[in-house]
Amino acid sequence: MNASLRIAKIFGIPVQVHWSFALLLVWIIYTGYKEGMGMTDTFFLGLFVLALFLCVILHEFGHALTARQYGVGTHDITISPIGGIARLDRMPEKPFQEFMVAVAGPLVNVAIAVVLSGFYVVKSGAGQEEIQNLVYGVLVRDSNFFPETTSPFDFFMLGMIALNGILAVFNMLPAFPMDGGRVLRALLTLRLGRSLATRVATIVGQVIAVGLAIYGISNGSVITVLIGAFVFYAAAAENRSVRTETFLSRFKVSDIVRTQFTRFSLFDTLLSAARAFHHGYERHFVVFNEENTPAGIISEPEILQAIRENRLEQPIESMMNNNIHPLSPDNSLKDVLHLFQTEGVAIIPIIETGELVGVVDHQMVEHFLRTQRKLRKF
Ligand SMILES: [Zn+2]
Repeated sequence: MNASLRIAKIFGIPVQVHWSFALLLVWIIYTGYKEGMGMTDTFFLGLFVLALFLCVILHEFGHALTARQYGVGTHDITISPIGGIARLDRMPEKPFQEFMVAVAGPLVNVAIAVVLSGFYVVKSGAGQEEIQNLVYGVLVRDSNFFPETTSPFDFFMLGMIALNGILAVFNMLPAFPMDGGRVLRALLTLRLGRSLATRVATIVGQVIAVGLAIYGISNGSVITVLIGAFVFYAAAAENRSVRTETFLSRFKVSDIVRTQFTRFSLFDTLLSAARAFHHGYERHFVVFNEENTPAGIISEPEILQAIRENRLEQPIESMMNNNIHPLSPDNSLKDVLHLFQTEGVAIIPIIETGELVGVVDHQMVEHFLRTQRKLRKF
């Protein structure tokens, strides 16, 4: 079951909606019913929420298209009721590039707010004070500033302007995973280096997270407490992943490469792969063609599927995947981690001067990290 529904492909980037987005539509209908709004008003509220999420998507495209400038692709953009996320292949590590990619999202919202404001001023002929009051009226419920006579057009425009402003400010909070956290890390990296900068940015983010949680508890706002908890763990996760990356960048593939491995040909049966798998030593295998070059991978999920579906008499070729991304012994272990994360490969053939000299898989990297941790080197 796919949790997200693809709705479009824009600039070559798939845009998808998470299934929980449907809950938002239910919420709109429920709110319309509870508040005694008519069909038209409920429809209008729905339109307003959809327009807001369009702004969120544009925000994510701000990140994605800026990243593209630096040669970083985007896997997809997904929106859910709690916001959007652009899954970049990686975060650029050069501080300036990371800064630009992070800041591009909030800047999109600022640009939308500015353009809509200009349009609104021209269209409505409202004075500056009037606009300030109206924006305040949108932001603060029950405030006296919001005139009874506000037209749907006023409400829509001012609501959009105010909410885009909020989106920009909220995202610039200096806490991972918010954009402001990355901006802070990029700026700190200039002075401290990436690893230390991440640690400092993590601490700043966690202090803010605790502040959010305390604020939420004292105000009885469950959402704020949840955001606080989320930010706290996201900061810790970011710190852990950068620490691991930094550590692995000090080692080469040749430090852990396994030179003994089982070779399969396209025409071996899945049974032989399942047997080797059951020994437990190897879980993923490289499959060779007649010219004795790697043709594909047969990994744990495919082997398990073959066992489940009683296909063990069939040749390996029928289940093999073509996701081959070779590296050389001189690549760093950070490159290995990167391939696991971005390409979802299970095993990497290691090629030296055209010859396959060994393999590296996920378990080997984990084993390496575990061992280094026991030796207190990591
Ligand atoms: Zn963002």
